[in-house]
Formats: sequence, structure tokens, C-alpha cells
Amino acid sequence: MPGVTLRVRFAPSPTGYFHVGSARTALFNWLVARRAGGTFILRIEDTDAERNREEWVDGILAALAWLGMDADEGPYRQSARTERYRQAVDMLWEAGVLYACDCTRDQVEGRTKAAGVLTPGYDGHCRGRGLARVAGSGEPPRALRFRTPDEGTVAVDDVVRGRVEFPCSAMEDFVAVKANGGPLFVLANVVDDIDMAITHVIRGEDLLPTTPRGILVWQALAAAGWQPEGTPTGVRSADGERAAPDERIPLPVFAHLPMLVNEQRKKLSKRRDPVAVERYRDEGYLPQAFVNYLALLGWSPPVDRELFSVDELVSWFDLADVNHSPAFFDVAKLTHLNGEHVRALSTDAFVEACAPWTKGHLARWRSEDFDPEVFARMAPLVQERVAVLGEVPDMVGFLFTDPVEMDEASWEKAVVGDPQAGELLDAAAAAYRGLEAAGTWTADALHRATEAVAEGAGRKLGKAQAPVRVAVTGRRVGPPLFESMEVLGPRRVLERIGRARARVAGAGGTGTG
Ligand code: GLU
Ligand code: ZN
Repeated sequence: MPGVTLRVRFAPSPTGYFHVGSARTALFNWLVARRAGGTFILRIEDTDAERNREEWVDGILAALAWLGMDADEGPYRQSARTERYRQAVDMLWEAGVLYACDCTRDQVEGRTKAAGVLTPGYDGHCRGRGLARVAGSGEPPRALRFRTPDEGTVAVDDVVRGRVEFPCSAMEDFVAVKANGGPLFVLANVVDDIDMAITHVIRGEDLLPTTPRGILVWQALAAAGWQPEGTPTGVRSADGERAAPDERIPLPVFAHLPMLVNEQRKKLSKRRDPVAVERYRDEGYLPQAFVNYLALLGWSPPVDRELFSVDELVSWFDLADVNHSPAFFDVAKLTHLNGEHVRALSTDAFVEACAPWTKGHLARWRSEDFDPEVFARMAPLVQERVAVLGEVPDMVGFLFTDPVEMDEASWEKAVVGDPQAGELLDAAAAAYRGLEAAGTWTADALHRATEAVAEGAGRKLGKAQAPVRVAVTGRRVGPPLFESMEVLGPRRVLERIGRARARVAGAGGTGTG
């Protein structure tokens, strides 16, 4: 289609938290658009007033913004386009493709059972029935059904799955319009894709079974003379040109993306699996790492590494390389990849990325206790040790909370469980006081002094420093101890050792030698 620019859409229904599968679909659409210099459209499919909530719409927008996938057009809202769907229904009705049906499910089941029909679905009972009968009853019909062909097949030429054929004999006359006149998913979806001049429909594999219905609706609208709306108000059209209304409306290219599965190779479940994108953002995954990982769900890069930048991804991505086998959503792998992205940041970028946890809404200390200079000094050491940014507060909390918050399990293990702990704390305090007096309060000097304490106690350094670490940082693990103590300064270090020492004595004076 020369002269026609690529136009793709991401069309989520706002019925819950933003799902990783949706994020993957959005990404692949966005990539195809970026790669081809096309247009990425956001369309909110919010026709189901009962299941849709405005907060889920906000969640979609926030997640897309976080991942850096802003739309070139939209968000369009299906709820604002009901007039357009009504026009389509009228046109299909006039064309004789729709018919009214009042059958209840029980009636249909009763009939098909009596006839010994095994294929589930509607039996075509009301086919050929006129509108008059319905109008005569004074009640609107329960539904308008789409008359599917009796013979032949509908083929979906799918970039990912190849050609998939659906025999018409197995397609029931599906409901296209509800009793209240509202369109069902397929109808609204196709009207929009036509009106928005979508050239590529890229979406989850779960929608493949409804695709032949969409194709039938598409063809019926085209045959009935449907006129694409033209560039909707406010829409930027790349070449400012639209196809003439009487020109045939070409079907889009389809690409159905592989299903995401969990460890048990089962379809990801909203209830069992961690699928909410919001959750990853709040746990401190980096958007570039998340995008990197999402890209690997059904696609692999043309290089022998799995860590790459968004720019590289844009330059490499090709829909034709998408694999059709189910993709394992592996949180451990995502976390590992995130750690690599964290380490790839400059120190400044790392400090910046940590802001929500250090001075934003996720911080666990009072903002006046946070010292950005202290954090900046420790940042390179912390950056080496975390996989997700949500680990940062635990790791540096001791720098910004006084008295230090004691992890009781660490205290039990490293202090209560060590008969020499009191003695070691005394020796360390004495040695550190010496450094303070000498004005040599550096990580190096603290290191050497602690080594001497260890030697005096006949221990390895690691064993000897454990009670000191717990006294000073409140935990058994964390950033390197001597750098931490240098940053904390003598006053706070000695105070904390003193407090720990008093607690040991108070608890019965363990190991005062
Ligand atoms: N609104 C549909 C959904 O969220 C997707 C429609 C489409 O991509 O065609 O499942
Ligand atoms: Zn019927």
C-alpha cells in the first residue's frame, strides 16, 4: 500500500489492573509504529459500563507513560462513539446481514438437544425473520444476530501464526447488537479499526477466535458502502490524505501474539500470578528493564545478549520474527535483568531513579532526616547490591533513622547468639574512639582498626564485625560496613555501639569476659 502510512492501535478494555500481557501488546504495537515511522493510536474500549471503571483508564494511561509508550493519537473512547456504531448497525440491517432474535439460551439449548446437534451455539432459528414481527410486539429484540455464511471458510492471514482457516459451518450467527442497541465487542472494534484507518491489528492470541467474525463484519460493512469517518477531529494524518470513500476498505494485517504462561505452563492468571504492571513499578523495576523484558516475550534480538536499550530494540524489532509458542513470564529473569539495568545506570541516574524511595511517597523516613549528600556518597555501593529499587530503603535506612531500627532476627543471631559480642563491641568502640581522636575517620582506617579487634579476639574479620554491623546498621546485611561508618560519622557510630552495648549488658551481660 504505497503512500499509506502504518497505523496501529492498542485497544485495552478498562476492566482491571494493567496486565503484563497488555503491556506486551502495547509494546509490540508501539515498536512497529516507531520502526516504520507510523502512528500509534490508543483506544479505550469502554462500552461495557458495568465492568469499566475510570480508575482503570487512569491506570492504563499511567502505565503507558511509565513505560514511555505515549500515543500519537488518542486516547479515543468507544463510549463517545455510540452514534457511529448505531450508523453501522443501521447499515448492516439495511443490507440484510443482521436479523432480530428473541431466543433465550434455554430455548436454543432445548432445540439443539432435541435435534441431537452437538455443535454448541445458536441454531439459526430466527434467520429470515423480519423486523416487523419484532416491531409489532412493541418490545425491542433481545439481540440482533449477524448472519454468517453457510459455506466456505474465513481465512486469517496472520503474520505470527500463518494462515488460519475457520470453516463457516462451525461459525454460529453471533450476536452483534444487544437489546439496548449497544454494539458487541466485534462490531465496535471493527467500526473503529475501519474509521481509524488501522493497517495492522496486533493483539493477544486470545482474540484470534473472534477474528473471523471481525473479518465478516468488516467485509459486510465494506460491501454495504460504509464510509470511513475520515480523520477524526484533532487527528494528525501523516500525509494529510485519505482514501476516497468509495475505495475498497482493505483488511488490516493481523498479528496475534503468543500467550503468556506461568511456571506451570498455564495461561497467566490475574488471581494467581503477579500480573499487574503497577506492582512492578512500585517495587522498583526500571521502565527500560521492563520494556527490555517484555520484548523477550515472544521475540528475541538478533544479537547474543538479552540486555538491550529501547533504541536498539526499536531498530531491531520486526513483527515477522515473533514466535508463536507460548512465552514464559519469568519474574526471576525479569528481576535479574532489572539488576543489570540498575548497574548500567550512571550514579546520577541511579540516585534520580531512587527518588520515590528516598524522598518521595515510598520513603520510610522523615523527609527532614534524609540527607541527599549522604545518599549520593553511598549510592555506588548500593547500586551494586540491589536488583530492584524497592530494596534501597532497607539497605540505607540506617543512614536516615535515629535510633537505628533494629532487625530483631539479626540482633538475636549476631549479638545474642555470640557470647563474645559485648567484648567485641567494647574493643571496637575503643579502637574507633582512637580514630576519632586522631582525626582519621576513614573507611580504610576503620577497616584496619576492626581487623585489629578481630585479631585480638582470635577471629576472622567477617565474624568479628557481625555484632558491630548489627549495632550500627540494625541488620546483618547491607552495604559495606566501613564505608557506611565513614559516612555515618563517629558520633552516630559510637552512640549506636554504646546503645547496643548497654542492651547486651541489660540482657544479662553476655560475654563481658
Ligand atoms: N479490547 C480488547 C481487549 O482488551 C482488545 C481488542 C483488540 O485489540 O482488538 O481484550
Ligand atoms: Zn432466535
